[in-house]
Amino acid sequence: GYASNAFTATLFPGDGVGPDIANAVKSIFAAAGVPVTWDEQVVAKEVDPRTNSFVTRENLDSVLRHKVGLKGPMTTPIGKGFRSLNLTLRKELELFANVRPCLSLPGYKTRYDNVDLVTVRENTEGEYSGLEHEVVPGVVESLKVITRKASSRVAEFAFKYAKDNNRNKITAVHKANIMKKADGLFLECCREVREKYPEIQYEEVIVDNCCMQLVRDPGQFDVMVMPNLYGDIISDLSAGLIGGLGLTPSANIGENGLCLAEAVHGTAPDIAGKDLANPTALAMSGIMMLRHKGLSKEADNIQQAILKVIADGKYRTKDLGGEATTSDFTKAVIGSLQ
Ligand code: NAD
Repeated sequence: GYASNAFTATLFPGDGVGPDIANAVKSIFAAAGVPVTWDEQVVAKEVDPRTNSFVTRENLDSVLRHKVGLKGPMTTPIGKGFRSLNLTLRKELELFANVRPCLSLPGYKTRYDNVDLVTVRENTEGEYSGLEHEVVPGVVESLKVITRKASSRVAEFAFKYAKDNNRNKITAVHKANIMKKADGLFLECCREVREKYPEIQYEEVIVDNCCMQLVRDPGQFDVMVMPNLYGDIISDLSAGLIGGLGLTPSANIGENGLCLAEAVHGTAPDIAGKDLANPTALAMSGIMMLRHKGLSKEADNIQQAILKVIADGKYRTKDLGGEATTSDFTKAVIGSLQ
């Protein structure tokens, strides 16, 4: 029964269209009988000295306590001397992997109709170690750090994700032909983990070839795992294959089963408060959170309802070429739940 599944999740409605789409997601989840209580969290208007960020200690503690959360887009504050919201969340919650499923939406025409892939990006080191210095004037060194610990951790996650989500193949993306030691170690870790998952196919593709193959035939990829920089680029490229960032969900994974899901898009200030935003990306992010919790029945039900409404075409929001408001779309999704 539901009672045994009941859980609390942190919800950051965020800024701009965030509250509109967060409300839509709350109504859809309630109508689908998802046994969730939302612990709503708002980031501060001033820097919290305990975190050196607009993200407060209480915000972080909420996610650490509940282990699952959903985050709307947030305005990036401009100014110096404090940490960005996303960096604070990533560092303080040790979010080591970013996961982005990219799925062609049936009935919504884009250049490709056979995309169903997931990118898993290592999120703590690699090219984004932040270790840069000027050795002598005119010479800068930027250190790419690859560790066995972080590489094995993200590889373990990717294989487990593939198994839990009935996926068949893992592609490790690399440039080990040039960065023999760094990307070589990354591949070595992937190969070690692979031994534990004989039922999952495994292949290695060099990142430049991977870009070419993705654009030529994205249907050949399933789950892809890679170091930080390649993941940054390949995940955006993949979102472009299905019609842009507005439809793409993501989840950030931390230690001890922590999962903070978020829409990839920003606050859309041009349409904020006008009941025009498309809640699909945030709802699909919420669905990732449900799958992470093992609530696949509820996740499947909500996902089929969203895909059905978009495929029917009658209630599409403006970004998908339709006329529907956020409320119209939300009502149609609720009406399509089983
Ligand atoms: P944006 O994603 O907010 O908007 C780009 C375009 O996409 C706009 O035309 C917008 O109307 C449209 N769009 C975005 N989401 C939509 C939705 N759900 N439905 C319909 N249309 C949608 O990108 P931006 O304008 O570059 O950024 C605006 C603000 O968002 C900035 O402050 C930026 O820093 C912030 N931002 C936050 C995050 C985050 O919190 N994860 C991510 C990106 C940008």
